[in-house]
Amino acid sequence: MKIHEYQAKNVLREYDIPIPRGDVAETAEKAKEIAASLKTKVVVKAQIHAGGRGKGGGVKLASSPEEAYAAAKAILGMTLVTHQTGPEGKLVQRVLVEEASQIGKELYLSLVVDRARDRECVVFMASEAGGMDIEEVARTSPEKIIKVAVHPAVGFTAFQARKLAYGLGLDKAQIAQFTNIAKSLYRLFIDKDASLVEINPLVITADGNLLAVDTKINLDDDGLFRHPELKDLRDESEENPLEVVAKNTGVNYIKLDGNVGCMVNGAGLAMTTMDLIKLAGGEPANFLDVGGGASADQIEKAFRILTSDPNVKTILVNIFGGILRCDRVAMGLIQASKSIDMKLPMVVRLQGTNVEEGRKLLKESGLKFEVADELFEAAQKAVALTK
Ligand code: GDP
Ligand code: MN
Repeated sequence: MKIHEYQAKNVLREYDIPIPRGDVAETAEKAKEIAASLKTKVVVKAQIHAGGRGKGGGVKLASSPEEAYAAAKAILGMTLVTHQTGPEGKLVQRVLVEEASQIGKELYLSLVVDRARDRECVVFMASEAGGMDIEEVARTSPEKIIKVAVHPAVGFTAFQARKLAYGLGLDKAQIAQFTNIAKSLYRLFIDKDASLVEINPLVITADGNLLAVDTKINLDDDGLFRHPELKDLRDESEENPLEVVAKNTGVNYIKLDGNVGCMVNGAGLAMTTMDLIKLAGGEPANFLDVGGGASADQIEKAFRILTSDPNVKTILVNIFGGILRCDRVAMGLIQASKSIDMKLPMVVRLQGTNVEEGRKLLKESGLKFEVADELFEAAQKAVALTK
């Protein structure tokens, strides 16, 4: 789960990591009030679940409350397009208004889970070349990024903190500040079951102090049950609407860019189905695992999700009937197709218990089912129907 910058900064504050003073606003009037109460120059920042806001026009400096009002007016309601939002962009509903920082230098600091085989642990990444072009730095001069792997049993050590700090070229006073920040950040990462914590830029201010000017925290969904206070930070308006519906109905759905809608029971079978669609020359529109049940009601919900994606031209149903009998699945498919008045062609591949009865029901239903025996054949038929 992603959270907004202002929410992530509240978490940093909990861990005594220095952040600028500020508050979040949903209106330009409120932004002006915040700027007036800060009594300094401010920065007005779009709050969306994507980075690259600076380059997209979502970060503006303002020297007075009036300018803050104008900046907020311009940013709120805009559809911000950045390299992370995709071409459709994201609607800005809130801005963070903060005391503007006097920036001396922009550093980069993050914690991620490194899944590489020889590591399989949490890794600190730091760079002297922080700021808006860090992705470019990672691509063109990866040697400018220092990595330190944290052993889970040993934890983050003072020696490792110094290694990062020297690599960042910090002076003595800054090394002490940095060590505190890095230690807190590691503690936060572990405590909160994060999957990513990033401070970019970690600023060296004009007077030589360290300050977290931008931050990003991603949380592991499977750890959220341990953090009810973080669960409440979810902003569903930032997430894919179909995925939100799916999550609330207990269906595992991930939207993709192709045009063959897939409905499968079991995650492994769903992955295989997507592979075979590709092998047949097509592109899957989604991953969808209806789970073990696949009742008529669940199939109907899954159909509704699939058909609300305008890219979907045909639907491939691949169900293995183990405990679940194929005739039951067939009845579910027929009932669901009728109740949503399904217009799209469907290819159905059933295997398992009572498969003959299931196929017979589908063929005699008078609905647009193409029945396939083998999975690859089903994938080929589905792809052919999109052409
Ligand atoms: P991002 O583009 O979404 O990563 O947003 P950031 O919050 O990182 O802001 C982008 C850039 O704007 C930063 O790298 C800074 O160069 C600049 N910036 C952000 N806040 C301030 C500020 O308070 N003062 C100054 N002078 N520049 C800022
Ligand atoms: Mn940033």
